[in-house]
Amino acid sequence: MNRPLTRAVLALGSNLGERNDTLAAAVADLVDRPEVRLTDVSPVIQTKAVGGPAGQPNFLNMVMGIETSLDPYELLEHCQKVEAKHLRVREVHWGPRTLDVDIVVYGDVVSDDPVLTIPHPRASQRAFVLYPWALMDPGAELGGESVSELAIKASDFADIEMFDGYESQPAGAV
Ligand code: AMP
Repeated sequence: MNRPLTRAVLALGSNLGERNDTLAAAVADLVDRPEVRLTDVSPVIQTKAVGGPAGQPNFLNMVMGIETSLDPYELLEHCQKVEAKHLRVREVHWGPRTLDVDIVVYGDVVSDDPVLTIPHPRASQRAFVLYPWALMDPGAELGGESVSELAIKASDFADIEMFDGYESQPAGAV
């Protein structure tokens, strides 16, 4: 039975290794199955790490729009497999790679299951998700509010820079 296609937004972040290459490879991996079709990608932005240990390398973040016939839990499992693939530690000079993939929204589905909370519980306060999303889809709304307006109100908005695609050195190589 073919499930109907649902539009979803995924948020990707990387702050270790060849961050931009990791994001590009992750986008390709996420759409490398027939149940997932890429509809949009945002520009890549650079942000300071929010929370976590002090002195962390900066993050590159982006969002992507998909249409999928996977159900929300199948999509989560797929995202986690792609994360796991890019979390591997390789015995080569550029070292570990990290990747975080979150489901920001899945259609109009609202779920407060801790295994899968959608919309993502922190997305509405995180400019590193909201800003690239607004660039990708200027009319986007989250919880009835404009994503661009939410981005401007978010406390990390001032820390965002556009990323020009050039890695002067791998993040974490300090
Ligand atoms: P993180 O540390 O951000 O990678 O969190 C991963 C955990 O968050 C996993 O155990 C997921 O089951 C859970 N989770 C809950 N809601 C979401 C969501 N919307 N997207 C991705 N992971 C989620």
